[in-house]
Amino acid sequence: TSYGFKRVGADDKQSLVNDVFHKVANRYDLMNDLMSAGLHRLWKDAMVAWLNPPKRQGWRVLDVAGGTGDIAFRIVEASHGHAHATILDINGSMLAVGRDRAEKKGMSGNTDFVEANAEELPFPDATFDAYTIAFGIRNVPRIDVALGEAFRVLKPGGRLLCLEFSEVEMPLLDKAYEAWSFNAIPKIGKMVTGDGEPYSYLVESIAKFPNQKNFAAMISRAGFDRVSFRNYSGGIAALHSGWKL
Ligand code: SAM
Repeated sequence: TSYGFKRVGADDKQSLVNDVFHKVANRYDLMNDLMSAGLHRLWKDAMVAWLNPPKRQGWRVLDVAGGTGDIAFRIVEASHGHAHATILDINGSMLAVGRDRAEKKGMSGNTDFVEANAEELPFPDATFDAYTIAFGIRNVPRIDVALGEAFRVLKPGGRLLCLEFSEVEMPLLDKAYEAWSFNAIPKIGKMVTGDGEPYSYLVESIAKFPNQKNFAAMISRAGFDRVSFRNYSGGIAALHSGWKL
């Protein structure tokens, strides 16, 4: 079927992903609301609540695959305007939307935007107090390399938080979710962007991503301690946490 997994190499995968986000950048925020029925807002709020950024100057977060800035803006708000967020994404179109939004929110002073690859972060070791990535890691071809980079750029005592689609752990809900993602999501994608195929690819990437326990093990292997996770909406999304001690 057209949903059969394509066997693609890391570079091909990255260029497929890049095509999707260049195409949807301008409608990305709308797409998120439609495709998750607004749920992504609750999950992102929960992520930032668990991070609980300090309300003081000098605290720095790197938001990788930060796209249009959703996570970074929430963190700056939660820190009462003290935190500094670096939004890193491989896709200049997504970052351009993010920059506009930052300006409109009066957050330009708290944010900067960096076009780069999660697998090769352009920062020295031990730069950041926290590393966040939301719905990004599954798009990265070499997840272990990205996790290694996360560990490297964090300061000792720094924290990794990773929000991603995961394995649904409720019978019935898993069937409904499958139907939604394999039928509705590519259709919504096609309606809004004129092309359903790239979104089929993203749905497949969700199905392929390691489940909660296996992903936690990968985070530990990258060097992180006290690795734990929380499920949201029955496991449709999961939030993983780890510390560089
Ligand atoms: N974090 C944002 C959010 O939650 O709304 C955006 C998530 S969006 C689903 C995924 C993002 O990952 C896209 O902006 C895409 O360009 C970015 N991305 C894909 N591969 C990447 C890579 N290798 N390095 C950095 N960013 C990447």
